[in-house]
Amino acid sequence: MSKPTVALLYICTGKYTVFWPDFYKTFRQNFLPECDKTFFVFTDAPSIEFDTEPDVRRIYQKALDWPYSTLKRFEMFLTQEDALKAFDFLFFANANLLCEQVVTAEEFLPRTEQGEVLLMVQQPGFWDKTPPFYSYDRNPKCRAYIPYNCGRDYVSGGLNGGTAPAFLALCHTLARRTDDDLADGVIALWHDESQLNRYVAELDPAEYRLLTPAYWYPEDWHIPFEQKITVRDKSKWIDMTAVKGKKPELGFVARKWDAFCQNYLPFVLAVRDTLLLKHLPRYKAGHNP
Ligand code: UDP
Repeated sequence: MSKPTVALLYICTGKYTVFWPDFYKTFRQNFLPECDKTFFVFTDAPSIEFDTEPDVRRIYQKALDWPYSTLKRFEMFLTQEDALKAFDFLFFANANLLCEQVVTAEEFLPRTEQGEVLLMVQQPGFWDKTPPFYSYDRNPKCRAYIPYNCGRDYVSGGLNGGTAPAFLALCHTLARRTDDDLADGVIALWHDESQLNRYVAELDPAEYRLLTPAYWYPEDWHIPFEQKITVRDKSKWIDMTAVKGKKPELGFVARKWDAFCQNYLPFVLAVRDTLLLKHLPRYKAGHNP
């Protein structure tokens, strides 16, 4: 039987090219060793290490300002749709990931024989929390909106994928929603991750395989999972203020209010949204399915 074919979608514009060599070396060696992998690297760099290897395709991608560099990813992938359609599975991985342990097809691929077509990974900040406390986008004007009484999982924007048809369908929907939001002057709270979480909230749970934060294990964290895929601390490599701008420093009262909003207010808002019978708004057919 021939090996399943997998395209790994990887973006490294601007300073993020620093992560590429270790990403490539560890993923080539340890990630889905039973599969035939091709790395699609979206970059503005005129050349990157290993780009003459037969399993690497470098695709020119202009460096966009933050947050468009991450928000516009679905549109970037669709520029390669014709080539990507030929693969069995497509996965996106954030630039700063390392795969230092073997991750097998059996443990990672969606189990298509059971009806799963997508693969998602729990975000490590929320695996032990309930939906009202997730960092979903709560703005009803945004197409990533999820009321406090809805949702099921909080998944990471930095490692996900699926069968080629399922993942390309996701890219089409989320590219369109992102653009419609931008036309309205709206950007989702956590950009692509908020859009992805809204998409997942609309799925039947049987349609996606959900993995634990073992596959999204931030460097230097201590959570009760085996560290299978590591998220490197970007600030050790890149001046993140130069990429994303400086975060405003909160004063004492603002910090206390922020903690209250995170720890207690969601209870109240979940009760409110339940009483108001809030649900995920359906988008008009043909406009934004
Ligand atoms: N990215 C990039 N260049 C940039 C900013 C972001 O290539 O200047 C890509 C890169 O693949 C990165 C992803 O966008 O892993 C998400 O950005 P980042 O990791 O900074 O966001 P986070 O997931 O930590 O919120």
